[in-house]
Amino acid sequence: MKSRKPLVAGNWKMNGDIVTNEHLFTALRSALERASISQVEVVICPPFPYLGQAGAWLGDTGIAWGAQNVAAAPNGALTGEVSVSMLLDLGCKWAIVGHSERRTLLGESSELIGRKAELCAAAGLGVIACVGETLAEREASHTDAVLARQVDALVPALRAADPARAVVAYEPVWAIGTGRTASPEMAQEAHAFIRARMADGGVAGADAIRIVYGGSVKPANAVTLFSMPDVDGGLIGGASLVADEFLNICRAAA
Ligand code: PEP
Repeated sequence: MKSRKPLVAGNWKMNGDIVTNEHLFTALRSALERASISQVEVVICPPFPYLGQAGAWLGDTGIAWGAQNVAAAPNGALTGEVSVSMLLDLGCKWAIVGHSERRTLLGESSELIGRKAELCAAAGLGVIACVGETLAEREASHTDAVLARQVDALVPALRAADPARAVVAYEPVWAIGTGRTASPEMAQEAHAFIRARMADGGVAGADAIRIVYGGSVKPANAVTLFSMPDVDGGLIGGASLVADEFLNICRAAA
């Protein structure tokens, strides 16, 4: 039994609509209530427009909801952005920052992501900060250097955050949405490196901060991944859109 409470977060990405969400929320509610997985912290991250819907469907369950991104400034002339305080207004407990799709497709830098994480930490919004190397970086043996750079940019936020409300998601880019998963040993090696890097950076709560794995997690591989000592749960993309799969992944973390 690990000292850190496992966390499993579902990242719906840009999927869903009012009607299909309602089916998914209903299925998740009843499945998770039946399974009563109170040992696992469960978070659902739908697209921004459906955060209110998430609150309406999940508000009286133990399931939290969160956003997939947040602005890097508290307010102001930033058309199209959504602030930390707006997410708190909508009952969000968490925000994902630094997902590789935003790093790669939208050009977000580690520094920008660090600022977003700091704003979350300062306001008490839980942050799930993603890091991870590309396939080319792994093949060139640059994984540690990439993770070090990405984690270092998060250190000020992680030092300021309540460790119970700070999560680092190790998501190797080559494993996201590809059906290719890091082996449990590869995940453990990266997670241990990330934890040590946080501690070296002066993050006093490094041992208490959860490091979750993301990248093609399915019910069939979740048990062995989550059994590794530094793997404290998962960030789940595709499988979080299928209630039974997501439930079985949550069960694997219990
Ligand atoms: C993700 O988008 O964070 C993710 C891990 O996706 P998938 O589970 O589909 O690989």
